[in-house]
Amino acid sequence: MSFEKLNLSEPIQRALKSEGYTNPTPIQAKSIPILLDHKDLLGCAQTGTGKTAAFAIPIIQSILNNPSSPGRQKRIRALVLCPTRELAAQIDKSFTVYGRYTNIKSTVIFGGVPQRPQQEILKQGVDILTATPGRLLDLIGQGLISLDKLEWFVLDEADLMLDMGFIPDIKRIIAHLPSKRQSVFLSATMPPDAVKLASTILHKPVSVDVTEQISSADDINQSIFFVNKPDKGALLIDVLNHNNIDNALVFTRTKHGADKVARSLNKAGIQSQAIHGNKTQNSRTKALGDFKSRRTRVLVATDIAARGIDVSGLQMVINYELPNVAEMYVHRIGRTGRAGAGGTALSFCDTLEKPHLAEIHKLLAKKIPVATDFKSINQVNSQLSQIKTPLNQLNNMKTGKVKFFNREKGFGFIKDDESGQDYFVHKNGLVDHIKDGDEVSYELEKGPKGMNAVKVKVKNR
Ligand code: AMP
Repeated sequence: MSFEKLNLSEPIQRALKSEGYTNPTPIQAKSIPILLDHKDLLGCAQTGTGKTAAFAIPIIQSILNNPSSPGRQKRIRALVLCPTRELAAQIDKSFTVYGRYTNIKSTVIFGGVPQRPQQEILKQGVDILTATPGRLLDLIGQGLISLDKLEWFVLDEADLMLDMGFIPDIKRIIAHLPSKRQSVFLSATMPPDAVKLASTILHKPVSVDVTEQISSADDINQSIFFVNKPDKGALLIDVLNHNNIDNALVFTRTKHGADKVARSLNKAGIQSQAIHGNKTQNSRTKALGDFKSRRTRVLVATDIAARGIDVSGLQMVINYELPNVAEMYVHRIGRTGRAGAGGTALSFCDTLEKPHLAEIHKLLAKKIPVATDFKSINQVNSQLSQIKTPLNQLNNMKTGKVKFFNREKGFGFIKDDESGQDYFVHKNGLVDHIKDGDEVSYELEKGPKGMNAVKVKVKNR
């Protein structure tokens, strides 16, 4: 199915085209027609499925169908409520992007930053408001926001909102909404509490569920390391240093843990920043911005701070600690492999975490394979670091011919052009795929059993 079949207005189609979207994702294909048909929606979908556009596009379309009178002060016609500041900013950005060829105005409000600039924008009039609960209630309480002309209400990431204790706030907000409205309730999981809350918000909703497709996470290459807890730090550095990883999102369970990991990565020369609830909003925004623009290579995050974060082209998610709630594993690894693109997820599991792993396997209905390649490189390198190699033996670019390489076993030999000597090569030392007879360039690095060929690249490729 293409977006053209959805009968969207030309400015929306143009915006989607400029974003490079050709086909709707499953949640979009299912939800957009339901919402355009003025029905309420109960959607089970996580970030990464394209759920934001699934509600943003119909909202923009409905405002275009029934535009506000020109010259009159705009009133808030759509409210999107979500749990975190990062997510709120991201949703608002989506409205800006999809509505860029319209004169629809959207804005975002959240706590932790001064109220004044938000207030000024609201005063000028907006059509669409994205908010986190606390700041919204503050501004409603101060008489700075009125929701009496509201037509759309979206509650996003409802399960996380429940986990974060937002229920009383949500109830207070709902009391301010007109009863005649169209509502959307989105949640990555549907525990009984979420279903109960949904029933108080929605009127005869149509249900859409796209979690199955995600929980199998087929597009994501997942693997697991069994590692002792004290060795996790060294393993992380090793994995990041030896596997051509340009950017990675690392998850820890605690805020303190996130800081500790970020510090040790920086010490090892790997630029990283931590993001969690104890950081000021400015430092959270900066950390995320630096990561998105690739100024930092690694972002270390706790679950709550990272939920909903969308970083395009995120290469790898690393679970430094396994989450104690299995669903969270799916949320975490969903940061990579967005909207169908492939990605990699590695998890570090120590003995105490094995019960969590069992729960994750149950949820996925399959076992995550063990990351043997990475493990071996870790062992090799921990030994390597103990061997003093003269500098002139390192980083010395050489050329040779692949004599033999066994893909299945993942190792082989390269015959050096100059000396005619054979050098051992492991697949972790490869930049390109190689096969027997390839002309290659490579560097030599001292391994426990002699010199190894690393950073092997096929010539002229
Ligand atoms: P979301 O689940 O809303 O956070 O979206 C995940 C990512 O998918 C975002 O980076 C979107 O820009 C992208 N996306 C959403 N819809 C589409 C689509 N139809 N085609 C390609 N990318 C999309």
